[in-house]
Amino acid sequence: MKTANFWTDQLPGSITALPIDETLPESVDVAIVGSGYTGLNAARVVAKSGANVAVLERYTIGWGASSRNGGIATPGIKQSLKTIWRKYGDEYAHEFWQASLDAIDLIDQIVCEEHIACDWKRTGSFALATKASHLDYYHEFQKWLKEEFSHEVTLVTRDTIQTEIGSDIYFGGLADDYGGGINPAKYVLGLAHAVARYKAHLCEHTEVQRIERLSTGFRVQTSKGTLRATEVLVATNGYTDRLVPRLKPRIFPVGSYIIVTEPLSKERQQMLSPKGRMFYTSKHLLNYFRLTPDGRMLWGGRNNLNTNLDLYDSARQLQKTMHHAFPNLANVPLSHTWTGKLGITFDLMPHIGQVNGVYYALGFGGHGLSIGTYLGTEVGRLLTGEISRSPFAEIPHQTKFFYRNRTWFLPLAAWYYRFLDWKS
Ligand SMILES: Cc1cc2nc3c(=O)[nH]c(=O)nc-3n(C[C@H](O)[C@H](O)[C@H](O)COP(=O)(O)OP(=O)(O)OC[C@H]3O[C@@H](n4cnc5c(N)ncnc54)[C@H](O)[C@@H]3O)c2cc1C
Repeated sequence: MKTANFWTDQLPGSITALPIDETLPESVDVAIVGSGYTGLNAARVVAKSGANVAVLERYTIGWGASSRNGGIATPGIKQSLKTIWRKYGDEYAHEFWQASLDAIDLIDQIVCEEHIACDWKRTGSFALATKASHLDYYHEFQKWLKEEFSHEVTLVTRDTIQTEIGSDIYFGGLADDYGGGINPAKYVLGLAHAVARYKAHLCEHTEVQRIERLSTGFRVQTSKGTLRATEVLVATNGYTDRLVPRLKPRIFPVGSYIIVTEPLSKERQQMLSPKGRMFYTSKHLLNYFRLTPDGRMLWGGRNNLNTNLDLYDSARQLQKTMHHAFPNLANVPLSHTWTGKLGITFDLMPHIGQVNGVYYALGFGGHGLSIGTYLGTEVGRLLTGEISRSPFAEIPHQTKFFYRNRTWFLPLAAWYYRFLDWKS
């Protein structure tokens, strides 16, 4: 088993060979820090409008969560729709929900417009009830979703669950045809190729170390020199450091871990996932899983929120939960194990905002594939003046007095979630 990201381990040279700028431009209209879905989608919109853009990446293009995730796109955002509805009211709830659907359609549109071959398929998702009470909740949620949001999902009970999944440990679930699956690394590098075609500068191994506000614009100091920019966007999500000190307390990193098996036979794939769904469980410390385009089982999750778990230990833990769901995978070897960082906000909402004139878009939890695509595009459109508002820029973005730099509270939060998972 390799301790390496399966998605990037497999990429052909035609995809990895990007037109990288060896030297930093002297000045640009927009400097973007971070080269994941958020940064590149913003760059795509701004560069298409004719503006001069530089994408500045500490490591290699797409290095962050955008090349290492599960590749699962599902409607909704990290915060539950019911909580959003209670907290922000009916109008915002409709806007946020619609944005989450539009975000999935936007992936369709971008993949098609930019001719990105990234195995994007709308095979839908399936939420799995790990307790009988969770299925009751799903039933109620299904009715509410239809009445309030006119969105149809199908409730599947235990008797018919084999039409969705080859496992008998779940109590049923909710099938939603809207979502889909992608090869995340092919998608992020495909975006980078598109952005380069629109003449944006792609700068690798360029760590942004300081952003200084001037009377007009900004001076951006990097490990490769300094550039001037009229506007700056920080798109660093789970990898946000103290670059913008007042931003750091508004987002914290959480680790997510993935294993994949060696390829499975066609019969076994059909038995485990007859419809090729994207799966996730109803627990707080949930598991997400799917078949990869080349027919492996990809299984992700965490039993701890830390970002520095040992990859072999975490692989063993994940394998145990995978074997519990699919005992007949017991004899199938694992090929890869890896990790990456999610960016979580205290209100579990994604945010667009500004700190001292610097724009940011972050806080996607496990929904960054679609929501990062959407918010990157949205902030790009705000920067070009194509739109003048976004609901994600209108809600307050809170921090907590106990968090400035160190995520000392994560073990307590993990303990609390384990307790909730045991109790309800
Ligand atoms: C293991 C795992 C599984 C996941 N599964 C899913 C899933 O199935 N579906 C889903 O929707 N989401 C999933 N997510 C979440 C999703 O991947 C992220 O929300 C999304 O990729 C965030 O994109 P981004 O562009 O905002 O940030 P990232 O892709 O994380 O990019 C941020 C970049 O900023 C760079 N950076 C940071 N600081 C600096 C600096 N000072 N100077 C220069 N560069 C800097 C980093 O090097 C990094 O490359 C998963 C995440 C992980 C880790």
